[in-house]
Amino acid sequence: MQHHIPPDWFNLDNDFVWHPYSTFPSNNPIYAVKSADRTYITLADGRVLIDGMSSWWCAIHGYNVAELNQAITAQLDAMAHIMFGGLTHQPAAELAAELVRITPAPLTSVFFSDSGSVAVEVALKMAIQYWQAKGKTEKQAFISLHKGYHGDTFGAMSVCDPITGMHHLFSEVLAKNYFISSPNCPFNTNCQQDDLQELQHTLEQHHHRIAALILEPIIQGAGGMKFYSADFLQQASHLCRQFDVLLIADEIATGFGRTGKLFACEHAAISPDIMCVGKALTGGYMTLAATLSSKEISQCISAAAPGVFMHGPTFMANPLACSVANASIRLLLNSPWQENIQRIEQALEQGLRCCESLPAVNEVRVLGAIGVVELHKDVTMATIQQQFVDAGVWIRPFGKLVYLMPPYIISSTDIQKLCDAIYQVLQ
Ligand SMILES: *Cc1c(COP(=O)(O)O)cnc(C)c1O
Repeated sequence: MQHHIPPDWFNLDNDFVWHPYSTFPSNNPIYAVKSADRTYITLADGRVLIDGMSSWWCAIHGYNVAELNQAITAQLDAMAHIMFGGLTHQPAAELAAELVRITPAPLTSVFFSDSGSVAVEVALKMAIQYWQAKGKTEKQAFISLHKGYHGDTFGAMSVCDPITGMHHLFSEVLAKNYFISSPNCPFNTNCQQDDLQELQHTLEQHHHRIAALILEPIIQGAGGMKFYSADFLQQASHLCRQFDVLLIADEIATGFGRTGKLFACEHAAISPDIMCVGKALTGGYMTLAATLSSKEISQCISAAAPGVFMHGPTFMANPLACSVANASIRLLLNSPWQENIQRIEQALEQGLRCCESLPAVNEVRVLGAIGVVELHKDVTMATIQQQFVDAGVWIRPFGKLVYLMPPYIISSTDIQKLCDAIYQVLQ
């Protein structure tokens, strides 16, 4: 086999850098990247990999995109950053207006932050402050779903799946919330009567303590890659109204077309009270997230003591990030993105279905531009990662899940290559 020589700076990474969900130094292989262009990642040793991950689901247009590069460089000439307290700028104002325009109707205000986890913290704080403003001070807990994932900060962790979310490590400091089973009714099916029973019971018993139900609409991402019924989402939304509980839709993974709708809430035609977006918001160029809320929430919080919403990140609404987000949304909406997602869905279905015959595989599921191969056992990261790289693809499994979330511009030939690599490696 060819010997791949790492670049001379590479030992600095090994000596000084702590990677995500890793030991220090990393006991799994880390690959040095030189550049990325369209749907290809070029490693420092010259190998080129087809990207199946969109850099954790963000780079929907691929890499080195002329329109996005241009948006950042143009903004750089005006200003890279300016504080957001008492000041504003065109990229932020226009982005907020556009987000309100393209999201479900009742969402009318936009609070910017710098990452998805923080957007979730902001959503949880908004829900609690809203009920405080209404005089219902005991409504401070949340309901969330098993297999849910909402980020790695403390508030977000407290509504993540209690097992994969590592609650036992931080049990003394994590807020105690209510968990219901991950929805049992698959996508494209209607729910049975008892599918909503657990939610109904929890609401009946504890609604006076519950500020909001938080969930990832239709697709549970990093907590299990499960697709569930729009009917569940719709009925859950009705139950929230009925019991005076807010609905927070975490669209950080699902937003901007990934599921075949611009936002996954549209599958169920529901209108959440609060919505979080992040990840693909900037087309994967810069870190930016937003929490949208209804007029009812923004007005209530602003009208009661302390009269303000108590949050304000230093890099809130960074102008470079807002500019590239505006350009990314424009690029998406001006493209035939629905046809593109359908094409990817069909190619993933065709390419991955054969994996079902492999003994290691439990289930194959595809929805929108997401293809999942669920195994019977957890993968061994070090070996499987190297096998994928040797096969010329960038695929990063976790737990029992080997999945693809390619950039929307990927060619059908390259989807087939990604799927073939998965079949061969799992074989
Ligand atoms: C990734 C993700 C988050 C956390 O976003 P970060 O930018 O990593 O903090 C929250 N919710 C969902 C659904 C996600 O997929």
